[in-house]
Amino acid sequence: MGKPQAHVVLFPLPAQGHMSPFLSLATRLHHYRPGLTITLVSTPHNINSIRSSLPPDSGLNLHSLPVYPVDHGLPAGAESTADLPVELYIIFFKAIESLHSAFDEFISSHVSNASNSAPLCIVSDYFCSWTVDIARKHKVIHATFITLSAFGGAVFFSLWLNHPHKLTERDPFPLPEYPEVLIHRSQVSQYMLASDGTDEGSQFFQRQLMFMNNTNAVMVNTVEEFEPLGLSMLRKTLKFPIWPISPPLAPVGQPSSSKSDEETEIMTFLDSRPPASVLYISFGSQYTIQPGQMMQLAQGLEGSGCAFIWVIRPPIGFDPKGEFKDVWLPHGFKHRIKPKHMGLLVHGWAPQLKILSHISTGAFLSHCGWNSILESMFYGVPIIAWPVCGEQFYNSMMVVELGMGIELARGVMDSSMPVKEKVEEVVELVMGSNAKGLEIRERAKECRDVMKKAWNEEGGSSMKSLLEFFKLINI
Ligand code: UDP
Repeated sequence: MGKPQAHVVLFPLPAQGHMSPFLSLATRLHHYRPGLTITLVSTPHNINSIRSSLPPDSGLNLHSLPVYPVDHGLPAGAESTADLPVELYIIFFKAIESLHSAFDEFISSHVSNASNSAPLCIVSDYFCSWTVDIARKHKVIHATFITLSAFGGAVFFSLWLNHPHKLTERDPFPLPEYPEVLIHRSQVSQYMLASDGTDEGSQFFQRQLMFMNNTNAVMVNTVEEFEPLGLSMLRKTLKFPIWPISPPLAPVGQPSSSKSDEETEIMTFLDSRPPASVLYISFGSQYTIQPGQMMQLAQGLEGSGCAFIWVIRPPIGFDPKGEFKDVWLPHGFKHRIKPKHMGLLVHGWAPQLKILSHISTGAFLSHCGWNSILESMFYGVPIIAWPVCGEQFYNSMMVVELGMGIELARGVMDSSMPVKEKVEEVVELVMGSNAKGLEIRERAKECRDVMKKAWNEEGGSSMKSLLEFFKLINI
């Protein structure tokens, strides 16, 4: 009789930027070990929306835990960060932590069921490192999946643990564990600047980092070759194997509400444009900018004359899921861009992977969510960076360091940033026929090639990491 196959239980944080890499990881696990049982655990609404978007042959089982057993003061029905304003995120993370008993029962029922002789492994989001407690209790393997970049993760952890910006007046200031890394205050989110280590946010993350010390291994959603610094920082702090395992890009888990007629309009628009001529603009699945910045971005785009697809939602201060009002854009803007077919405004969900993979897409103005960066790299599209908060600032640093993009603006607090003039200048620089633009575009293509090699079955770096994980679970 052969070895019993293992059962891998995936526990992502319910947020688009975390769910997507977990689903991609599941795809890769199933592809290389079809006999593996893979179960993704989340709350009912998330499970239903994943179910509706999964291909029939995904090999993924879905298990629904109850909605939070305790009243956390979240709006009714909120089961994902997409349903919440940023101010409620910490409360939401704690609500997820209150699923502890329900998840414990789920693992317990599998461990005690005699017919389930397959070894069990929990792979949890680093935001849900509390699951390590349950793994230890039931003597099962636990791996943590960091869905951030290694550099972003290391800086983020250092800020939560040490609050280095409170220790010095210097700007930029060094990180205590990595003095060679200098961070500007403008690269630290407002909530972090206000935090002193005793607030709920700090305590939540400090607890997760403490739990993470008991995990068996850490997988990071990155590619070894891109992140020597970030990975060496993580390896210095976390004393167990760190495996960069940037998974393939699977367009699953996206809201089923995406409209196919809007998608047709987008693809027709792209089909009608010359190669590398369209700027794609998106602030990810949940972020937006200040009203004044939105106005300036629109003016800058018009001034640049560059064709664009802009995934736009109401600016800060308004319901992000509410109706979009034309007064947030320059007077007559919509009218002027339409007849010239200069730009498309997308209200809602854009098929990002299809846009990035289209030959007409020339650059991506991005908030630097890590998935967006990886996706852009995967298709060799250069980035115009506008990080908004959290570790996006450090992802933007990486993009600049890798030479595949330029930072246009930073944060959403300073409404006086001269976005309009800079948009015109940076779009011309990245997409125009000048030496710097050529160099950036060349570098983006090199990044794409490195990323593809990472999954080479003979010795690719991410492939090696996956094999290490299979060894950990003994298959
Ligand atoms: N995304 C998409 N269409 C949209 C907005 C987002 O497909 O209109 C996807 C995008 O491809 C990426 C994810 O949602 O996979 C966003 O993750 P990221 O880490 O870039 O940003 P976050 O939303 O977590 O800030």
